[in-house]
Amino acid sequence: MRSRIDLHTHSTASDGTLTPAELVRAAAEAGLDVLALTDHDTTAGWASAVRALPPGLRLVRGAEISCRWFGTEPAVPLHLLAYLFDPDAPELVAELARVRAAREERGERIVALLRADGIDVSWPEILAGAAGGTVGRPHIAQALIRAGLVTTTNEAFGPDWLGERYRLPKEDIEVFHAVRLVRAAGGVPVFAHPRATRRGRIVPDALIAELATVGLAGLEADHEDHSPAERAHVRALAGELGLVVTGSSDFHGTHKTVRLGAHTTTEEAYERIVAEASGVTGVAYG
Ligand code: AMP
Ligand code: FE
Ligand code: FE
Ligand code: ZN
Repeated sequence: MRSRIDLHTHSTASDGTLTPAELVRAAAEAGLDVLALTDHDTTAGWASAVRALPPGLRLVRGAEISCRWFGTEPAVPLHLLAYLFDPDAPELVAELARVRAAREERGERIVALLRADGIDVSWPEILAGAAGGTVGRPHIAQALIRAGLVTTTNEAFGPDWLGERYRLPKEDIEVFHAVRLVRAAGGVPVFAHPRATRRGRIVPDALIAELATVGLAGLEADHEDHSPAERAHVRALAGELGLVVTGSSDFHGTHKTVRLGAHTTTEEAYERIVAEASGVTGVAYG
């Protein structure tokens, strides 16, 4: 039987709702053979995920790195999945810490904007909701739900709220620098949902081709934020550039409706990613 491989998920170490231990158990229950833990800008969930790994499940330790492309004005935010990198590589560690701090500062400013409009949300309460994990807009969305202003996370990301009116940029990592840092740390970088127009602006294919020349390894094609046409486009582009194609759920627990294993990656693609990793972090076996 073919393996079921999901290479993009979030835990309470960032904006997911299952702890890393709960997440690996849920992955086994969902019938997955390989799971990647890819919390936003942190490796804080790795150790407890490894400790809780159920027999038969393989864990790819990773992260989803907040990046920005400054080749156009205003700069375009994008997400880089990074797999199997050294979590102690000093430059990468420093950049991730900087981004996490910038996320907190930006979250606090979003809350100030909301409060200036008389909306009763509090920053300490939102920080408490993140419980030490990387803070993101989903945590602010939960405060809007608790205040009875919206009913779903999706609604909180609408234009009247965190999607536009109360949206502020964060200080991300320059994308070429991020690709190089991930490779230097022995990791394998894959561009997350590169064509997700429904999330906002996207980067041109020419930029993806340039990133491929400095070490980008793959493109995530099968993702719930891609239409069938967008998936086909990403697949074709990956073919042209010789990049690995992945598919994944981007599971966030109850912060999103998508289920574990909703999209998956082929064994061939997974094997290529593992073979390209050259760092101290191997696949962990449960
Ligand atoms: P941030 O990282 O703070 O900019 O917030 C972006 C995060 O919000 C993404 O990683 C998603 O997890 C989440 N997100 C974005 N849009 C939605 C949506 N419509 N519904 C639920 N979560 C969303
Ligand atoms: Fe997220
Ligand atoms: Fe993402
Ligand atoms: Zn994600």
